[in-house]
Amino acid sequence: MSIFSKSLLFRGGLYISVGGRHYSAAAQAQLREILGSQLAGIKEAGTFKAERIITSSQSTQITVQGSDKKILNFCANNYLGLANNPEIVEHSQKLLEQYGAGLSSVRFICGTQDIHKQLEKKIAQFHGREDTILYASCFDANAGIFEAILTPEDAVFSDELNHASIIDGIRLCKAKKQRYKHRDLGNLEEQLKASDARLKLIATDGVFSMDGNIAPLARIVELAKKYNALVFVDECHATGFFGATGRGTEEYDNVMGEVDIINSTLGKALGGASGGYTTGPAELISFLRQKSRPYLFSNTLPPAVVAVGLKVMDMLLQSSELTQRVQSNTQRFRQAMTKAGFTIAGENHPICPVMLGDARLASKFADEMLTRGIYVIGFSYPVVPQGKARIRVQISAAHTEAEIDRAINAFIEVGRSLKVIQ
Ligand code: PLP
Repeated sequence: MSIFSKSLLFRGGLYISVGGRHYSAAAQAQLREILGSQLAGIKEAGTFKAERIITSSQSTQITVQGSDKKILNFCANNYLGLANNPEIVEHSQKLLEQYGAGLSSVRFICGTQDIHKQLEKKIAQFHGREDTILYASCFDANAGIFEAILTPEDAVFSDELNHASIIDGIRLCKAKKQRYKHRDLGNLEEQLKASDARLKLIATDGVFSMDGNIAPLARIVELAKKYNALVFVDECHATGFFGATGRGTEEYDNVMGEVDIINSTLGKALGGASGGYTTGPAELISFLRQKSRPYLFSNTLPPAVVAVGLKVMDMLLQSSELTQRVQSNTQRFRQAMTKAGFTIAGENHPICPVMLGDARLASKFADEMLTRGIYVIGFSYPVVPQGKARIRVQISAAHTEAEIDRAINAFIEVGRSLKVIQ
């Protein structure tokens, strides 16, 4: 329905005739009522997600609507602090001028520029893989892979806490779907052993974003070898900053190059704009270009966004300095908070969930932190299990030590006042 006809509906009675056709306002009223009551239920349960409106660029220090004071941001996936990097912004502006706003096309019609091919090559080089295919997002990369490559003869084994986009991607495929208990290798092995599928694909997040914990990748790779299975890893919370040189979970767990398929995002550490990709064997990437629906039926990445990825890849191929900085900032935060008496979940990762247990306490804690100029978010059920509410702090390479210390001090002050620590 066009905006024009919609506006007529609002002004009119139950039935309006536009261009000889009749539209029912009753159906829309019914939709509003159904959704409205569900929204009320979400609010009542305390799980309504309100969005804070940022009026500055994404950074460690931001301003938000309703206040002109700077607040310290500890909840972005801006792990390398590159989201407002001036060199990257300049390169993006340059390619915007040179290549235009967009291609008005999918890749295989007329949406492939030389810069798309350059970015794919650089990402493959970064990961030490044969080739890469770009998507509009990692959600799309995850939605597009399983259905393209797996048939009813095949089986996929998925960690029960995998990201929603992996779950949705697997739902779309016709392979046998098996879920194994979170990071439970015994349970995974039982299922692999019992399977007589043609292709067996193990799918896991490299880093699980709610807990900041890590997939036991070396042992997963071992099991994959034993049972002739493939390994797929989603590296959205690892690429560029996890592992000694930021190559991700396989570097962290000393199995560089042994994972078969890596999906990741350009929307977090790698400049924070948008875009996702699959990197792996040449035949796989070629096949995805023929068969993967989000690639075939969705617009190409715009040049200004490709430019961000290109510049970030150049930076990361030259130096691991930012990677080291986010790692040392992470250690500083984790050590001081643990010493102060807080329980920090996860392992050595810049996702530092400060465990509080109670949902209301987590929400009150986050509010108190904001009054001290620190922006953190409380997570509670159903995003995390009942009774496991927390504040998820995310550390960036761009945080200064003084900023990290300010956050720690605020945590200690609020923690004492709310009797979380002594
Ligand atoms: N996979 C994981 C583990 C994620 O955390 C996210 C984003 O939240 C995605 C995939 C989706 O990435 P994108 O934002 O590029 O669609």
